Amino acid sequence: MFEIAKKYMPGGVNSPVRAFKSVEMEPIFVKSAKKSKLIDINNKEYIDYIQSWGALILGHAHEEVVEEIKKQAELGTSYGLCHELEVEMARLIVKHIPSVEMVRMVNSGTEAVMSAIRLARAYTNRELIVKFEGCYHGHSDGLLVKAGSGALTFGTPSSKGVTEKIVSNTLVARYNDIESVKELFDKYGENIACVIVEPVAGNMGVVLPKQGFLEGLREITKEYGSLLIFDEVITGFRVSINGAQGYYNVLPDITTLGKIIGGGLPVGAYGGRREIMELVSPQGPVYQAGTLSGNPLTLAAGIKTIKIIENDPGFYSKLDELGKYFEEGIVSALGDFYVKVNRIKSMLSFFFSKQEVNSYEKVMNSDVENYKKLFKYLFENGILLPPSPFESLFISSSHSKEDIEKTVYYFEKFSKKLKEGKL
Ligand code: PLP
Repeated sequence: MFEIAKKYMPGGVNSPVRAFKSVEMEPIFVKSAKKSKLIDINNKEYIDYIQSWGALILGHAHEEVVEEIKKQAELGTSYGLCHELEVEMARLIVKHIPSVEMVRMVNSGTEAVMSAIRLARAYTNRELIVKFEGCYHGHSDGLLVKAGSGALTFGTPSSKGVTEKIVSNTLVARYNDIESVKELFDKYGENIACVIVEPVAGNMGVVLPKQGFLEGLREITKEYGSLLIFDEVITGFRVSINGAQGYYNVLPDITTLGKIIGGGLPVGAYGGRREIMELVSPQGPVYQAGTLSGNPLTLAAGIKTIKIIENDPGFYSKLDELGKYFEEGIVSALGDFYVKVNRIKSMLSFFFSKQEVNSYEKVMNSDVENYKKLFKYLFENGILLPPSPFESLFISSSHSKEDIEKTVYYFEKFSKKLKEGKL
């Protein structure tokens, strides 16, 4: 199937990470998925820790979510007109995400971020934006940027086709290094429209914010009249029902969301303080639109997902328990190989590193060869980790303790084999 796919699709995939290139393997093709498990087209079953890259906090094909999608499909799959589910979703987001007073639905995280940045520039009448090395905010041009050759400079394009001119408006700072942000503000502060950050980094593997980092960003942006954008595409409804902003009690000006709020269907959203959001068209002069925005199928799935979470007061503590159990299992199995686990609730990464991993630099210094070996060994034994050491693992509420026990068992077997030099 991959050979055929490669004939018709670039790299055989619709999104690069699916190609399994980082682990030097070939991708699986999924036939079906239910709860914590995937089945491929060769009928092999896997315990899935990708969970659609964090979109599926309830696991695959949750009965009640599927039921809502079916019901809605009978009533129409897209209207391109107003409907009540839009109001219900907006109400739920405003209820739960503390800094959001108004919200606009879009179709992907990329689109949410791109629109949020346009809005920040409009609100502040400034051009520059600050992002962090190792944070990913979708593939819009101005964000496909890596740090330049000097430590703290304007970025350089990280993709062919993105021009120097476009990225000349993007400054790159170091995650968890508030001094690097201060330096940029000292120099360019008057022209910085916004700082965008993943409040918990999830795209260089999981890296938690150091104490004071998010607070520091809040302070600096306030001081200079810049906006703070939390990209909560992963963390929204993942680390708590109030997102990372609720968990850490730091409120941004604009929030971007995606993944979980679509219940497994394509989605994005951006929201914030009323006075900012009122600039969005048709209320204000910032143009942004979408044929399929607020799609009723997506919203039926997303609303049901949020309501299931709302109605289960122990939801996040149960996920936390599973996460903790997994974390302890990894540490006990791989401790001799200097493994470091970074975890918040149900998102976690582990790095082969002697030092704590709290920066992009340390992520990059971790050993990826062992991850590749581990990925392959677990894969052969029916356990699917993300096919890259720089992605988060996601646990869903449909993962059982037995799933994790089985996974840890294979981590232990892997460890033994690695010690014996058999891998
Ligand atoms: N922002 C973050 C933090 C993400 O993790 C992602 C995707 O993984 C995006 C934005 C882009 O979202 P999408 O893939 O829906 O365009």
